[in-house]
Amino acid sequence: MLEIKATETVRESSIFGQISTMDHEQVVICHDQPTGLKAIIGIHNTVLGPALGGTRMWPYATEEEAITDVLRLSRGMTFKNSLAGLNLGGGKAVILGDPSLKNEAFMRRFGRFIESLGGRYVTAEDVNMSTSDMEYIRMETRHVAGLPEIKGGAGDPSPVTAFGTYMGMKAAAKKAFGSDSLNGKKIVVQGVGQVGKYLIEYLVKEGAEVMITDIFEDKLKQVAKNTGATVVDPNVIYDLNMDIYAPCALGATINDETIDRLKCGVIAGAANNQLKDEAKHGKILLEKGIVYAPDFLINAGGVINVGAEYLGGYIKEMVYQQTEKIYDTCLVILEKSSNENIPAQQAAIETAKARITAMGKVKLPF
Ligand code: NAD
Repeated sequence: MLEIKATETVRESSIFGQISTMDHEQVVICHDQPTGLKAIIGIHNTVLGPALGGTRMWPYATEEEAITDVLRLSRGMTFKNSLAGLNLGGGKAVILGDPSLKNEAFMRRFGRFIESLGGRYVTAEDVNMSTSDMEYIRMETRHVAGLPEIKGGAGDPSPVTAFGTYMGMKAAAKKAFGSDSLNGKKIVVQGVGQVGKYLIEYLVKEGAEVMITDIFEDKLKQVAKNTGATVVDPNVIYDLNMDIYAPCALGATINDETIDRLKCGVIAGAANNQLKDEAKHGKILLEKGIVYAPDFLINAGGVINVGAEYLGGYIKEMVYQQTEKIYDTCLVILEKSSNENIPAQQAAIETAKARITAMGKVKLPF
């Protein structure tokens, strides 16, 4: 007779090992043979409400890479949504494969998987996803946000993300330099994409000395022409003499190779997961006296925007008002960081967890 053990030893790198370390509620593997859809939905925590977070499509080299990505990103959404004061939990989805696979059938099949979760997970755009993809998903489920404005949605969240990042940057400047004025500050913006280009406009308007970089030269030249910002080479930016470094391109740019080269007083940008190693690099920034505005705190404008769309009664002014509060929250987090001598990232995570713990009346292990 088959012997069933009550508990199995769980390897840390296995799926159960990872979700128990990070404390996910549910991970859903989706597969559809006819369309070739392969997706993973990570639901990290639903104590505050339905787990909201975008869908990313990426040609991951391995399944392990995709799993690690969805688990990290969905956990990050729990903290982001909590700190933003939203009544939403944290989730994220990844679709494995080349974005050229996308078509109506592919996206609608994915929408049906979301529908099958009965509202526990709500999606929106992330990397390689557009508002038209969200429209296909909407044909199968109402648990989606980020639809175009002409279809009753809130439209592109990037301008709101840029505004929140600007608010967070000003708060960090106040902490580091004693004033939140960015007039005359040397600021390097890495990445002039959807968020970067709007952020640059705020900074130029305030009289900052803005330097910009991107790997797409044409885009870079266009933004420089529109704003008067100075173009710098992407390879030299970590060595520049600057007051503020604003990562608005990729994650993990604060790493073993760059951290000793950075001579700025503040790091504040929109890119997700800026610290390659959260604990290690967060601690080094603290020791170096660089004020770090945690990414998931200051780039929450976008999720505030899509959250308002999903929860109903969308009013743009109210979204901007809520996003403006990032300034105050950022100051509170930076005070906690210096008072307790802990990295700002840790201070932000502890504050996010405290709200969830209070709401859920549970002790969270993650
Ligand atoms: P985007 O793709 O429009 O822009 C990113 C830009 O970075 C592109 O112009 C790209 O060419 C550039 N880039 C890539 N590699 C680079 C490098 N090595 N050096 C310099 N530039 C490089 O993306 P986005 O929507 O502007 O988002 C920017 C970041 O903010 C991303 O990390 C994203 O995850 C994060 N974010 C965006 C939103 C939003 O509302 N769009 C919300 C939260 C977080």
